[in-house]
Amino acid sequence: MKFEVTILGSSSATPIYNRNPTSQALNINDRLYLIDCGEGTQQQMLKFDVKASRIDHIFISHLHGDHYLGLVGLLSSMHLNGRIKPLKLYCPEQLKEIIDLQLKCSETTLQYPIEYKFTNPADVEVILENPDITVETIPLDHGIACTGFLFREKKRLRKLIREKIDAFNIPVEYYPALKKGVDYVAHDGRVYKNESLTLDSDAPKIYAYCSDTLYNERYFEQINNATLLYHEATFLNTMLERANDTRHTTALQAGEAALKTHAEKLLIGHFSARYKTLNELLDEARSIFPATELAVEGKVFVIGD
Ligand SMILES: [Zn+2]
Ligand SMILES: [Zn+2]
Repeated sequence: MKFEVTILGSSSATPIYNRNPTSQALNINDRLYLIDCGEGTQQQMLKFDVKASRIDHIFISHLHGDHYLGLVGLLSSMHLNGRIKPLKLYCPEQLKEIIDLQLKCSETTLQYPIEYKFTNPADVEVILENPDITVETIPLDHGIACTGFLFREKKRLRKLIREKIDAFNIPVEYYPALKKGVDYVAHDGRVYKNESLTLDSDAPKIYAYCSDTLYNERYFEQINNATLLYHEATFLNTMLERANDTRHTTALQAGEAALKTHAEKLLIGHFSARYKTLNELLDEARSIFPATELAVEGKVFVIGD
């Protein structure tokens, strides 16, 4: 199953040095999920071939402008491009007021319905479930209401042991049941235990998106064992005091978060405009957690690769 994320924006607060405010497009089994939508996200989508018509779910972590100021523009383009299928929006409740006011002032009635699911920053909640994944909120610590999002693959089917299947001449029509763990009963009544014919499925993959937050171990248990952990890393650790004041994380702390939660890989982003280049941030995170990458514009990360 395809499970990959394209980075559309990596900057905090303002667009700068070819870096855009935060946005990511997650492709799961060829369905697109947009996470945050900073200013300029539409242009980034065009640049990196992320088709708006294929997005049915948008997740907004919080209402600082660098995470949603591109949203009304995108909603408007969807309308102008003839969208009629519903769009699901997972966001803080006040975002509806903002969108409603903008639509009211421009006397626009969208041709498609927006179905809202308001996030609760105080609790972990499953906000989406479909045959591919479940998505739950991650309550973060950022001053204003803010949640991250944890995308978890559904448990996958068991894997057939080819040689056994062939050796016992098991007909193809039994394969789906075998993959679900059912034993095989042959014509002569002999029972073949499922464990002798199949292997355990791979562990479900997890993408944990930790948006703006103070380093706070209270959400660590929830993000444990992420296949890919995205964590904000706004500042170098020399700016720790500023990070604490503004409720952000340093690159060193992001590395610690990945280490303590046993992530397979760490992706850092949301870089302060004070850093013209990002090498120091990367080196700092890698000093704690070597498997770290920069979430820079246009990069595609395959989750579990
Ligand atoms: Zn931000
Ligand atoms: Zn913020």
